[in-house]
Amino acid sequence: MFISKETVLEKLRTIKGPDFEGDIVSLGLVSEIFIADAKVFFSITVPAARAQELEPLRSAAERAVKALPGVAGAVVALTAEKKGGGMEAAPPRPAPPRPAPARPAPPTAPPSTQSGKRGVPGIEAIIAVASGKGGVGKSTTAVNLALGLAALGLKVGILDADIYGPSMPKLLGIKGKPTTVDGKILRPMEKYGLKVMSMGFLVEEETPMIWRGPMVMSALTQMLREVEWGALDVLVVDMPPGTGDAQLTMAQQVPLAGAVIVSTPQDLALIDARKGLNMFKKVDVPLLGIVENMSYFIAPDTGKRYDIFGHGGARREAERLGVTFLGEVPIEMAIRENSDAGTPIVVAEPKGPIAEVYLGVAAKVLERMRAESASSSTAGPAIVFE
Ligand code: ADP
Repeated sequence: MFISKETVLEKLRTIKGPDFEGDIVSLGLVSEIFIADAKVFFSITVPAARAQELEPLRSAAERAVKALPGVAGAVVALTAEKKGGGMEAAPPRPAPPRPAPARPAPPTAPPSTQSGKRGVPGIEAIIAVASGKGGVGKSTTAVNLALGLAALGLKVGILDADIYGPSMPKLLGIKGKPTTVDGKILRPMEKYGLKVMSMGFLVEEETPMIWRGPMVMSALTQMLREVEWGALDVLVVDMPPGTGDAQLTMAQQVPLAGAVIVSTPQDLALIDARKGLNMFKKVDVPLLGIVENMSYFIAPDTGKRYDIFGHGGARREAERLGVTFLGEVPIEMAIRENSDAGTPIVVAEPKGPIAEVYLGVAAKVLERMRAESASSSTAGPAIVFE
């Protein structure tokens, strides 16, 4: 059945505005609507400060459109109102970096939070993939980055530390439970050449998981240290979203060689992304860079590119903060569909344009890891990648 923009708009007129006055269409909050393969894409403009509060508005709009006959899927994003083209409530620019990077720290300086941490035998480097808020594509990025690093010839593991909503079993299509080596140490699961460990393997999907501070940490420590990872060049940790206490504790306790931040291009997601950056700075973990996810949309019929979600925000923000920009991933139904099918796009279409984007991100991450390891090599063992 054919679905028209008018039908979608008509449906969206039933969705009330942020203050329950008028509807989101009449209020002029709905972006242009794109329909491709019976899938509908659009964004809703809201004030940045109210993003979190207005998430139900976004999901109501998405649900309403999905329910229309002839609609196979819908992707709706919240976009922040732009005032003067800049970010709202942007903090003052950080001071320019000092001329000479003083590494290692002078003896009088307190020891770095990272250097005192116990590494995991056999694992050369552990990197975190994090986001300031949920739903930005952190897990999707983590898994495709891990596969990208593996495609570059590294031995890679992935640890799903998103204990609130473990997604690796589904993303990688892994069924079953890990076995133990000697009743205590777990054998990681394996898929597409990756060693994989997830809380999702250890608890039933329906089990409500109320992991509180110490439990989160003991679960994480167990998955990190009581798993037979074997020799790995890189372990990619998919962190829980957000920058709360649990995340901070993890960032502090895991011996991280660096962190990758995933953000959508919208200003409001970037505010969260900046919180993520600050969290890692606080605990002295090097920032490897920012990935912009759901960056732009390519109409499948015409191949024309549309920046409906305000593409480019993450690159600008990365430049402003002096953080490496690792790449931009378009919004692409195939990414979601392959994730749902347990075949991440890097393995489903290894020669495709999206895999190319992820491979580019992986190569940049590797380059940054090498640079970080070289600059701190006097402080710890050097990491050498073949
Ligand atoms: P997070 O880990 O940040 O909560 P996920 O990786 O689970 O986010 O992604 C949220 C949803 O968005 C998933 O359904 C995923 O398939 C989808 N998604 C992620 N990135 C993209 C993209 N670039 N294009 C289309 N869908 C995407």
